[in-house]
This record gives sequence, structure tokens and C-alpha cells, in this order.
Amino acid sequence: LFISFEGIDGAGKSTHIDAVRQAFLDAGRTVTLTREPGGTPLAEQLRNMVLNDPMDAMTEALLVFAARRDHVQKVIVPALHKGDVVLCDRFSDASFAYQGAGRGFDWQMLETLEYWVQGKLPSQGGNSPADLLKPQTTIWFDLPPAVAAVRLAGARVPDKFESQPQAFFEQVAKGYARRASSDPVRFARIDADQTPSEVRRDVIAVLSERGYF
Ligand code: C5P
Repeated sequence: LFISFEGIDGAGKSTHIDAVRQAFLDAGRTVTLTREPGGTPLAEQLRNMVLNDPMDAMTEALLVFAARRDHVQKVIVPALHKGDVVLCDRFSDASFAYQGAGRGFDWQMLETLEYWVQGKLPSQGGNSPADLLKPQTTIWFDLPPAVAAVRLAGARVPDKFESQPQAFFEQVAKGYARRASSDPVRFARIDADQTPSEVRRDVIAVLSERGYF
């Protein structure tokens, strides 16, 4: 079982991933908790570059997908083979939201990169988009960017993205909405403009409706 968590900065996903992890542990499952960009030593180095060095949108897209490739091969696929529940703090939807909608990198090129990185190569018997490695469920913390901006103000030292103007996050939010509407079964939208305990209740409810515990 592979579940990803997505949303604009300030939507509160990190807080709730922990509650989900605990719920799976209580249900007797083993959990691999990981994050993107990152999740392996190499991918964490790429994360540092992406978050700190100025670069154009294409470079950024190539680096986040390179990081993802390493992460998929070394962590996600082996964990899924072991039968773990894999909880991933951001996955490829973030690339569409941030590099695509946010920074204006070509959407179709991102789909090509996704196909490369998450697809089976033809030499491995893969030849259709159905072969793509994707989460079964993506918990999408949907929060109006204006609310996120208030939450982020003064909360922590912002990285390159968190200090972007609100207009950037308006675009990122649209990117998530576009991905969600193209994959409505996978995406579970959570109204993140509620108290933490309400959000947690909704997240747990979605996962239990889907029969995961
Ligand atoms: O989720 P987390 O806060 O750890 O993400 C770190 C930063 O990386 C965030 O500011 C997010 O906006 C940015 N990011 C990005 N492109 C991605 C994934 C994350 O710009 N594909």
C-alpha cells in the first residue's frame, strides 16, 4: 500500500502524516515513512540543491525527478515488496504543482519525466501508462493560499519556496486541483481549513472508508 500526502506549504501535512503512521502501526502494519524531494542520501543532497540554489524550472524538474528515481528504486519499491505501508510526504504531484503550475514548466514534459521515472521500461515488459508506479491514495490537504500565508508567517525560517509570494501558491494550488481532477479516484481531498483535530478525523475517515484499517 502506497499513500502520498500533498498540499501547499502551510497546509499542515507533516502533522497529520504522523497520526496516519500511528494508526497503521496500531492496526499491526509495518510502515515506511519517507519524503520527497529526498528519502535517500543522494536524493537528500538533490533536495538541498533544489531548495537552496537558484536554477531554472527545467533544472529543478530534472533534479526532483532524478531524486525521485533514486528514492523509488532504493526505498519505495523494496518497501512495497516487503509488504510495508509506504507513507510519502509529497510525491510526483508536487512536481506538477510546484515545477509545473508554480514555475511554469511544461506539463507534458513532466508527464514524460513521470513516465520515465515511475514507469516500467519496455525491456521490463512495461508499455502503457497503467504500468506507472503511483500511490493508491493521495491525501490532498486543500487550503486557500491566503490562509496558508497567515499560518506560515513567522512559523519557521522559510526555504526558497516558502518565501514565494502568495501568487505563486495560488498557481501551485491550481496545479494540485488540476492533478486531482485528472485522477479523482486516487485523490482524496481534505478540507485543511479546519482545526487540526477535525483534519485528522477526516484523514483517518478517508483511509478507513478505503478499507486500509
Ligand atoms: O514538504 P516540504 O515542506 O518538506 O517541502 C520542502 C519544500 O520543497 C517546500 O517548500 C516545497 O514547496 C518544495 N518543493 C518543490 N518541488 C517539489 C517538492 C517540494 O518546490 N517537487
